[in-house]
Amino acid sequence: MHREKTTVHRENRARDGDNDAPDQSRDERRGLSVNEKRGRVPNILIVGGGYVGMYTALGLRRRLRRGQAQVTVVDPRSYMTYQPFLPEASAGALEPRHVVVPLRRVLRGCRVITGRVTSIAHEAKTVRIEPEEGASYELSYDILVVALGSIARTLPIPGLADVGIGFKQVEEAIALRNHVLDRLDIAASTTDEAARRRALTFVFVGGGFAGAEALGELENLTQYAVRKYYPEISQRDLRWVLVDAADRILPEVGDEMGVYTVEELSKRGIEVRLKTFLESCVDGHVVLSKGKPFDADTIVWTAGVKANPVLADSDLPLDERGRVSCAATMRVVGHDDAWAAGDNAAVPDLTAADPGEVCAPNAQHAVRQAKLLAKNIVAALNGQQPKEYRHKYVGSVASLGLYRGVAHVYGVKVKGFPAWFMHRTYHMSKMPTFNRKMRVLVDWTMAWFFRREVVSLGRMRVPREEFRRAATPKT
Ligand SMILES: Cc1cc2nc3c(=O)[nH]c(=O)nc-3n(C[C@H](O)[C@H](O)[C@H](O)COP(=O)(O)OP(=O)(O)OC[C@H]3O[C@@H](n4cnc5c(N)ncnc54)[C@H](O)[C@@H]3O)c2cc1C
Repeated sequence: MHREKTTVHRENRARDGDNDAPDQSRDERRGLSVNEKRGRVPNILIVGGGYVGMYTALGLRRRLRRGQAQVTVVDPRSYMTYQPFLPEASAGALEPRHVVVPLRRVLRGCRVITGRVTSIAHEAKTVRIEPEEGASYELSYDILVVALGSIARTLPIPGLADVGIGFKQVEEAIALRNHVLDRLDIAASTTDEAARRRALTFVFVGGGFAGAEALGELENLTQYAVRKYYPEISQRDLRWVLVDAADRILPEVGDEMGVYTVEELSKRGIEVRLKTFLESCVDGHVVLSKGKPFDADTIVWTAGVKANPVLADSDLPLDERGRVSCAATMRVVGHDDAWAAGDNAAVPDLTAADPGEVCAPNAQHAVRQAKLLAKNIVAALNGQQPKEYRHKYVGSVASLGLYRGVAHVYGVKVKGFPAWFMHRTYHMSKMPTFNRKMRVLVDWTMAWFFRREVVSLGRMRVPREEFRRAATPKT
């Protein structure tokens, strides 16, 4: 299938006379055609189409006068991911397609390029783009918005890169769901006791939002699935382990709620190992800094994030953590025509007691920054002063599985069902676009009437296998 697609693309390019063009002239043609086509209006290039990228583009589209500037968004994915819903997508409470927003649909009037930015040369006002197929090329711009977000912050732990999986992308959430449900099938069908134990052992490293919520949701799913459909597996056979180097989890909801979360997870039989490190996991053999080693088929790494490493291949000023150094207006320090916000930006937190503090990497800041960023860019284009970003973190809500949650918002601490309900209503209200809100609502409503979906589509990884077997003559 992949080869066929490649051939079609090559044929199209050959037909268009594109195949023979040397890289540089094609690069120049692309840069020129953008400016020429747009009558040389300034090109605002947004690298990254996540929270910041999409909301900034939407804000610009709304505020720019007709013909005032062209907006281009570059992202390797054709959709923005609403990450707080990934745990529910993984647990099957939400259809994964409903937690992403197609960029081309919402950003009509903007140019969307599906490709990866591999370097930024701001002095030359160009970025290098690597499309899914074909040679990489340069794209020029007048104004740059850096919205590349963050990636998993990993450590050089033996085996981690080979057996671990992250939890930041919808693809990972889908893969993890299929993998976890596959493990139940494997455990229920094997006679090998060691393989069964290994299949039923699930390890999460990192107890922040992503780790605690994903573990909470998936554990809840497996308990349900085992109770309803796997008579061969007892609930006690499932082993879920949450490992964190700190002495608490979910720092986002504060100390007290963090302690409650540990108690709540422990009551459910989940082993919460605090002040513990993952030392090695070669071939799934898990060695922690404390306790006996054990084997696990599932190791999920959710131990924090770091700024997108592409920034290291740029001439923008970076702080000690590799984030773009910004003023409170989100203008890049020392550059009038470059802006940054979200997880990849060090934006001063003007509400913090310590003047050196920068805004934490979370959606609450990302969305608010993006909205102001769009206004600031338009203000600058109109010769007005941009405004400083100021937002006091209002707290957090987290789901720990169906009907269970924890919240700490505006100083009010809530747990159990009310917190879970708050989590749903808050995120529902924040989910971008009416279309997606409705789809999410329908998913939740359907879940009231029908049983939870516990089917694994793990075979999707190898869609051609069946056909290949049929098409291969037996020897
Ligand atoms: C599971 C999970 C749950 C979360 N829950 C919460 C929550 O409840 N509350 C909260 O406040 N925050 C939450 N967060 C954090 C929140 O989602 C992030 O802080 C937010 O997404 C940051 O927005 P951003 O635009 O900076 O980055 P992103 O939204 O990550 O966007 C970055 C974009 O850049 C693109 N990109 C990456 N590399 C390149 C490249 N080389 N070239 C071009 N584009 C590139 C990516 O594809 C992506 O679309 C959660 C995060 C996760 C993973």
